[in-house]
Amino acid sequence: MLDACNISSAVRTAVDLANTVRPVKGEDLLETVEQLQDFLDGHSPEPAGPRRLTRTDLAEVRELRETVRAVLERASIDAAGAAALINDGLRRSGATPVLRHDRDRWWTEVVAGSGRCAAHLAATTLSALASVIATHGPARLGVCAGPACRGTFVDLSRNGSKQYCTRACAHRASVAAYRSRQSARLS
Ligand SMILES: [Zn+2]
Repeated sequence: MLDACNISSAVRTAVDLANTVRPVKGEDLLETVEQLQDFLDGHSPEPAGPRRLTRTDLAEVRELRETVRAVLERASIDAAGAAALINDGLRRSGATPVLRHDRDRWWTEVVAGSGRCAAHLAATTLSALASVIATHGPARLGVCAGPACRGTFVDLSRNGSKQYCTRACAHRASVAAYRSRQSARLS
């Protein structure tokens, strides 16, 4: 069993990475090396030392993003396909589980087989998504039901009934439903 705290932060990294592309708005928040640096600064739990990112890192992380996004989009409708993507991505990053110990605490962590930025991200995010699927089932991964949103999410709530990527999207949808009921009543 992977450490719960590491898992939820790695799950957040996976979802945030997938959501750096906003298909409905046509926005991409991962187009430059600087944007990649900002993303890593905001998501890497441990300092990875001095890092000089290159266009190659950017291209590799963008490719990984395609995989992570496809896993999040497909898991609930094609779990076997999502699992194949995860397994292939883990294999290509050389991901290996490692047992760690610090004071009284033991935990396992999946680490990449190389120092490449994308390999590290792949090992972290794909193993976290694998763990969610193994623990809670593939239906916990999904795409926002908001009409103008294709944001992805992972539902770690107790009842697993999440439909929207954010509270803002859930609120927008309930306002829209209310308005349509009102206008149906008036017409
Ligand atoms: Zn949304």
